[in-house]
Amino acid sequence: MFKASFHPFLIPDDNSFKLNKAATEPGKKAPDDEECERRLAACVEEIADLQHILYAHDRYALLLVFQAMDAAGKDGTIRAVLSGVNPAGCHVTSFKVPSAEELDHDFLWRTTRHLPERGRIGVFNRSYYEEVLVVRVHPEFLGAQRLPNGVNNRNFWQWRYESIREHEQHLARNGTVILKFFLNVSKDEQRKRFLSRLEEPEKHWKFSEKDVAEREHWDQYMAAYEEALNETSRPWAPWYAIPADNKDFMRLTVAEIIRDTLKALNLSYPRPDPQALSRFNEMRAMLEKDK
Ligand code: ATP
Ligand code: MG
Repeated sequence: MFKASFHPFLIPDDNSFKLNKAATEPGKKAPDDEECERRLAACVEEIADLQHILYAHDRYALLLVFQAMDAAGKDGTIRAVLSGVNPAGCHVTSFKVPSAEELDHDFLWRTTRHLPERGRIGVFNRSYYEEVLVVRVHPEFLGAQRLPNGVNNRNFWQWRYESIREHEQHLARNGTVILKFFLNVSKDEQRKRFLSRLEEPEKHWKFSEKDVAEREHWDQYMAAYEEALNETSRPWAPWYAIPADNKDFMRLTVAEIIRDTLKALNLSYPRPDPQALSRFNEMRAMLEKDK
């Protein structure tokens, strides 16, 4: 089973992650924007090649989960990092407010239907983690889920974390490599990005009054994130808290983690057995004669 190795932004599984200590900006030693862009371009090509081998190897799937506050740059990161990958080799799904049909099922149902097949990269833009984030901040949303035992049980959220941990461990045991990215944008950077959505006409479409209202709950969101990330970061399904105030650095960091994970799987093109190889020679001879 895949296990994450050390990384400065990896959230450990010992409950020690403190969100208010996590960087939202690149460190002083980080590469400048130009270098980030240059390295990203190379990394994107490597990811595309690795996905091709992932497909031929046919043992693993890769699931990338993205969670963040509004305007942190989920869409742009997904676009930048996967831009080189064969469109047939990856599938992005965005999860919005659940539909009536989705609410009629357990909370892991809607995402399960979009899990990647062996050989493919599946991307979740938001995910079942919304169930312990936005729903934690707005427990009134639980009413629509019509859960039989009510939600007042004091273990309610622990049960949800447990379901998520078990779900992810099950997937990992069966060949899905899971990487989870929390794009950690600061409250002030979010304010600036909302302002630019108001100021620049070509960004008006991105502006949402609802996003500004959600900002009022910033501290509750941070508490929900901190707990959820601590409860669910495990070596086979690690969370990374990526500084998100600088987009070039964020995109490069995410791309490098994906590339390094795929590399560490030691993927290879399958080698035909000797019998098949001798059949190749026969086939070649047949095709050459068949002019
Ligand atoms: P963008 O704004 O870039 O298009 P987005 O992911 O913010 O992307 P929106 O349609 O603006 O998309 O928002 C989706 C909303 O759906 C978010 O507010 C999110 O919290 C909410 N949501 C997602 N899953 C759930 C859920 N399970 N229960 C309740 N709300 C959810
Ligand atoms: Mg939005």
